[in-house]
Amino acid sequence: MLAVRFDGAVSVASVDVPVPEVGETRVLVRMAGICSTDLEITRGYAAFRGTLGHEFVGEVAPDADPAWAGRRVVAEINAACGACDRCAAGLGRHCAARRVIGIRDHDGCFAEAVCVPTANLHAVPEHVPDELAVFTEPLAAALEILAQVPIPPGDPVVVLGDGKLGLLVAMVLRRHGCDVSLVGRHPRKRAIAAGFGARTPEIAALRRGDARWVVEATGSSAGLACALELVAPRGTVVLKSTVHGASTLAISGVVVDEVTLVGSRCGDFAPALAALAEGSIDPRVLIDHVRRLHEAREALVLAATPGTLKVLLDARR
Ligand SMILES: [Zn+2]
Ligand SMILES: [Zn+2]
Repeated sequence: MLAVRFDGAVSVASVDVPVPEVGETRVLVRMAGICSTDLEITRGYAAFRGTLGHEFVGEVAPDADPAWAGRRVVAEINAACGACDRCAAGLGRHCAARRVIGIRDHDGCFAEAVCVPTANLHAVPEHVPDELAVFTEPLAAALEILAQVPIPPGDPVVVLGDGKLGLLVAMVLRRHGCDVSLVGRHPRKRAIAAGFGARTPEIAALRRGDARWVVEATGSSAGLACALELVAPRGTVVLKSTVHGASTLAISGVVVDEVTLVGSRCGDFAPALAALAEGSIDPRVLIDHVRRLHEAREALVLAATPGTLKVLLDARR
């Protein structure tokens, strides 16, 4: 089968079809999404080697457990050990021994097939098309903010970054009833944000030290400094960017203003699938390009081009 491999460089290679380990199921990939994390990995983040990719929708292989065979599915990306204290506490996403599909010690989904823990599978409702279901993982990551931080509906929230994650976060917060100000530089993306009811102010128009809630989704290390300028005393900054490399930051403002910093990564799939199924969020407006699997190198270049939103890989036969 074809797989998009990273061994310090990206290649599209012919590899053996993966054999599921105990507790795993093989899924035939239909569509996969290229995420900023994938691009960061190709720059050295997480020191990953193997098949890239963690966002996908697929169909369970016909030779799998009959309970799943042939079903269209998405899959949570953390393969927890299931035996440690954190797993016992329901924190499998933070299991120290976890493997993560396409990110840590586990081959990913930019391939014709991927093996995932059977416990991670979620059936996709029939009326949800592949182009929508493929957003389950990033949407779950955006929804995780509301699982972590009790932002009241109606509250103003500043979202920094008009990339695909910032836009998804803004969609989620709008759906929650927040008064969202999305800060970005691209007229086209600001138009998308305005389309779902977000404000799109210039950064200079925002008062310093005035925002009770700030979500940092710029994907750059400069974003946190900007967030700390905007946040009000006793306010909260939610950090969504995973950036490869170190950042230096004057942290005394966090202490003096008693700011709460919340790191936020991935979330539960069930609420994300439910939001997609009921149609209250439609991220298809973020799709800029669709490329076939064998065109993955070009697709990654497109995805890394400034201004590009979502690039999907189509692995359907
Ligand atoms: Zn992702
Ligand atoms: Zn564990």
